[in-house]
Amino acid sequence: MKAAVYRGAGKIRVEEVPEPQVLGRKVLVNFRAGSICGTDLHFYRGDWKMKRGRIIGHDACGVRADTGERVVMVPLSYCGSCYYCLRGLPTYCTSGKFYGINRDGFFAEAVAMRKRNLVPVPDGVSDEEAGIVEPVALALHVLDKLNPAVGDWATVLGQGPIGLLMTQVARLKGCKVIAVDLEDYRLRLAEKIGAAVCINAREDVVKRVREVTGRGSDVVVEAAGTRGTVEQTSFLVRKAGRVALVGEFAGYLDLEDADDALFFTTYISPLEYPLAVRLIAEKAVDVKSLITHRFKLADFEKALQTASDPAEKPLKVIVTA
Ligand SMILES: [Zn+2]
Ligand SMILES: [Zn+2]
Repeated sequence: MKAAVYRGAGKIRVEEVPEPQVLGRKVLVNFRAGSICGTDLHFYRGDWKMKRGRIIGHDACGVRADTGERVVMVPLSYCGSCYYCLRGLPTYCTSGKFYGINRDGFFAEAVAMRKRNLVPVPDGVSDEEAGIVEPVALALHVLDKLNPAVGDWATVLGQGPIGLLMTQVARLKGCKVIAVDLEDYRLRLAEKIGAAVCINAREDVVKRVREVTGRGSDVVVEAAGTRGTVEQTSFLVRKAGRVALVGEFAGYLDLEDADDALFFTTYISPLEYPLAVRLIAEKAVDVKSLITHRFKLADFEKALQTASDPAEKPLKVIVTA
C-alpha cells in the first residue's frame, strides 16, 4: 500500500510500504480523508525530529474494513490503568503513544486501529469534515479547562485553523471573542465565524484589548505559536483570569501585572472526540470554511509544500484517498 513516510527534514515521501498487521483488538481502517496539521509541518521543516521510516499524519477518517462504517481515528493510544489514565488524563499515559509522531500515523491507504480509538461518523458529515476533528477536540478541551462565564471576554492570539476553532468554541461557551492575527484574510474569516472584535497584530494589541475589555481579557488562548505572543499573554489577561498556551511553550512570562492569573499548557485528549464529531454534525462548529486546498494522497508532497507556503494563504489542506 502507499503511505507518506518521514525520511528526514524536508523529505516526506509517498512510498510503497507493507500493509499493517491486524492483531488482537485491532481492525483495519481504509483511509478516506485527513488534514495536515501544524505539527506535521514542524517535522517537515525540521524543527522537530521523528524516527525515519515512520508514517506521518494524525487527523483523519476512514472506513472500517469489517463493518463498512465510517470512523474518525483518535491518534492517542493509552493503557487505561496507569496513574494518569485513572485520573482521566490519558494524554499523559505512562505507556501512551501518539500516532503520526511516535508510532505510524494515518496518511496511509490503511491503518490498524483499536476499536476504542474509532468514533463513528454520522451521515451528514462529509469525509473532508471528518478529516478535521483534532483541532475541534483540542478547542473543546482548552475551553473546558478555561471555564469562562457567559459574556466573558476571550482573546485568541492567532487565527490559523486552531485559533479559528478556539474562536468558534469560545462563542459556543458564551464568550465575546477578540481575535488577533497578522493576516487580514484570517481576521475576516474570524469575523465571519463570530469574533466580536478583530485586531491586526501589527497594532498595539495589549492597549487595544485593555481598551475593549476595560480591565484585561477574562481568558486568553495563545494559538499563534510564537515566543512574542506567549510573552504578551500576561499583559492581556485580567487579574485572576486564565491563560491557555497551546501554540508555543517557550518564552519568559513577566507576571508583575498578572495577579492571581492561572497559566497552563495543554494537548489533545481522546475524551473530546465524540463531542467534536457531534458538533460538526450539528453544524455548531464549522470546519468546512477552513478548507483552502485539496490533494490526493499520491500528491502528499505537493500538499505539504502548499501547507507550508504562506503565499498560498493556507488554512486547512485536505488529503483524500
Ligand atoms: Zn495536530
Ligand atoms: Zn495509561
